[in-house]
Amino acid sequence: MANDMEKGETAETESAWELPSACGTAALPEDDEEEEAEESVLRGLSVLPVERCIRRPECARCGRPQKVCLCPFLPAHPLNVTTCLYIVQHPAEESRVLRTVPLLAACLPQDKCKVFIGRRFSEDRYPELAAVCRNPGTLILYPGMQAANLEEVACVPSQFPCTIIIIDGTWSQAKDIFYKNSLFRLPKQVQLKTSISSQYVIRTQPTNTCLSTLECAAVALALMEKNDFIEETILRPLQALCSFQLQHGAQVHHSKEHLLKNGLYDKPMPKNKRKLKKMELLVNNVKI
Ligand SMILES: [Zn+2]
Repeated sequence: MANDMEKGETAETESAWELPSACGTAALPEDDEEEEAEESVLRGLSVLPVERCIRRPECARCGRPQKVCLCPFLPAHPLNVTTCLYIVQHPAEESRVLRTVPLLAACLPQDKCKVFIGRRFSEDRYPELAAVCRNPGTLILYPGMQAANLEEVACVPSQFPCTIIIIDGTWSQAKDIFYKNSLFRLPKQVQLKTSISSQYVIRTQPTNTCLSTLECAAVALALMEKNDFIEETILRPLQALCSFQLQHGAQVHHSKEHLLKNGLYDKPMPKNKRKLKKMELLVNNVKI
């Protein structure tokens, strides 16, 4: 870690506490790549001295262990927003060590941030979610060829109150949730251009341009509400969390892209030609 920090890199630019979700324009990696990415992130997390094994008493507001409560970094009052967020969370995400959705929820009024946990969402079992998906004002944040740029969508005045659905999970979990639930293909699909908010990007696997769920939400809300203060406010607890973890011995986590480009990739190169090709593309900045 010391070496990494000597290079002048900070938690905000190079660490990864989150796996990518509904972000950017990067194409979805293959499953094996994702598993590797997840494994790598988990390995990074294993050095964290906090929250291992035993669940300590948690703060009711931020969901963090009481000793490392992030409430001082949360807004005194929930942000005043008209856009509503529906977070669709993969069950594995709920039990992850570093969860950011509770931080997001703590920044917003209760009725503006709803979390649904699961993998399959049928009309019968989730009538509220189904109704939201059918609402003309609803958008789903998921990158792809059909996805419009949220920045452009936000500029067009709408007669409907806006709801944004964000899928919280790893790439493969998000892909599974998006494609296997027909409900989620009803809303207009949007994506964030990754240049937005690049100063805040927490770099992560598999490329340097993926945003965490909390970051996606912060950027999306700021665009919809036309208020940059919202983004700053939501990102504040995340920045505090990252710097806290770094101060307590967590390693700066580089993306595979960064490691390959800087000759720091220390794992054996794959023998499989397809995988090798993918890594080549990653180094050459080609979207894979
Ligand atoms: Zn707290």
